[in-house]
Amino acid sequence: MRVFSAGLITETNTFAPWPTGVRGFSEEGPFHGDVTTRGKDSEMGVLACGWRDLCRERGYEFVESLFASAQPSGRAVQSVYETYRDEILRDLKAKGPFDIVLLFLHGAMVSQECDDCEGDILARVREAVGPKVAVGAELDPHCHLTPLMVEKANAIILMKEYPHTDYMERGRELFDICAGMAEGKLKPVSHLFDCRMVGFYPTTTEPMRSLVDKCSAAEQRPKVLSVSFAHGFPWGDTPETGSKMLVIADGDAALAEAVSTEIGKEIYAARDALLPRFPRIEEALGAARETNGCAVLADTADNAGGGAPSDNVALLRAMLEQRVQDAVFGCIWDPVGVKTCAEAGVGATLPLRIGGKCGPASGEPFDVVATVKAFRVDHDQQGLGPARSHMGDSVWIEINGIDVVLNSTRTQTFSPDAFTGLGIDLKNKRMIAVKSSWHFQALFGPIADRIIPVATPGAIQMDFAAIDYRRKRDQHFFPREKNPLGL
Ligand SMILES: [Zn+2]
Repeated sequence: MRVFSAGLITETNTFAPWPTGVRGFSEEGPFHGDVTTRGKDSEMGVLACGWRDLCRERGYEFVESLFASAQPSGRAVQSVYETYRDEILRDLKAKGPFDIVLLFLHGAMVSQECDDCEGDILARVREAVGPKVAVGAELDPHCHLTPLMVEKANAIILMKEYPHTDYMERGRELFDICAGMAEGKLKPVSHLFDCRMVGFYPTTTEPMRSLVDKCSAAEQRPKVLSVSFAHGFPWGDTPETGSKMLVIADGDAALAEAVSTEIGKEIYAARDALLPRFPRIEEALGAARETNGCAVLADTADNAGGGAPSDNVALLRAMLEQRVQDAVFGCIWDPVGVKTCAEAGVGATLPLRIGGKCGPASGEPFDVVATVKAFRVDHDQQGLGPARSHMGDSVWIEINGIDVVLNSTRTQTFSPDAFTGLGIDLKNKRMIAVKSSWHFQALFGPIADRIIPVATPGAIQMDFAAIDYRRKRDQHFFPREKNPLGL
């Protein structure tokens, strides 16, 4: 058996102002056939190494092509998208024939001229390899799972967990289904159920936790190969934006339809309880102050992981106005601020304008007097799973008793070592405020006495009914309508 693998990953916030281009894809890679060596610490590398090891165990030949990933922002530059897509297709044809194609894609990549980049890639891959080759893709649950993707792939598997801690397990399941098909033991058939919802579904809290467990339990039923819930990505305006349920069954289309409809309707039935209800800043700071121990607050709307600028300082401003002490805030994407502090040097106290630089979603800039406590070239933090996440040159500054981190490579704050790696001691902090919507919970959860996601201002608003969709086909979705499925 010969296995081809490739990856092209970004999540497009179509409301974000700046494009995703070569620079975005150059912050980590791209890797042209060498992600399992040169990029093995990245998420893409971790998954590709897993597929390579599975191939070795089975005596399959493993071939790797392009693996490229960019931090979410606006629509991908068309020529950049096409260049990467065509590199994958060129390798697929030149190095073939293959029995199995494994792709690591996001599912919410939108380019300047294509609303469904992953559907486009899968259609072209299918055209290149013909109908008999097993084509599988692992996607992020924040995808626009389109009928075109499902039609062109034999198997699509989404991460079940948010935070996405399970991408390795899902990658193994995808490998097993595709290998089963290539060896003639499985006939994967898929069905997609449209829940007609737009939402945000962390899996660490109820009712989503139990619903994810139901998906896993359904996979134990005879002939059910995989059950995936596509959360959808609310901040990408495409014809297929929304939440969907995907089930793969072994040779039984009716079973795939029955199970996807059953669990899709269960999620739909919980739709009111699933709506995020986060406190506003004042209320959140009040709750944090009352916490016995350490409260971790999330600046949910300014999460770089969802395409937001990561330089809105509204929450920090409120913390300073309330004279909060024993607190830390980060990480604000401010390369100019980092350069200014580096120039002044560690120990310097200087007037500094931070945040508010990218556009209306960044809010107002903030003029402060800051003391430079530490500077680190090429700072990084733990990402999801064993992967590292690059932060670029970063600086620890102190403003009226609050420790603040500014970074140069835009990324959400995943891990305490984003702070401790610069020398900040988190042990006696009463408040830790992070720019992330939910992924931070995987690594900050263990040190938090209370976690408070805050309804902050920014580019990732949770009022889904009010999002100004122009391209979304179904405008009659929950929560804009109470019961769009009429159940
Ligand atoms: Zn995601």
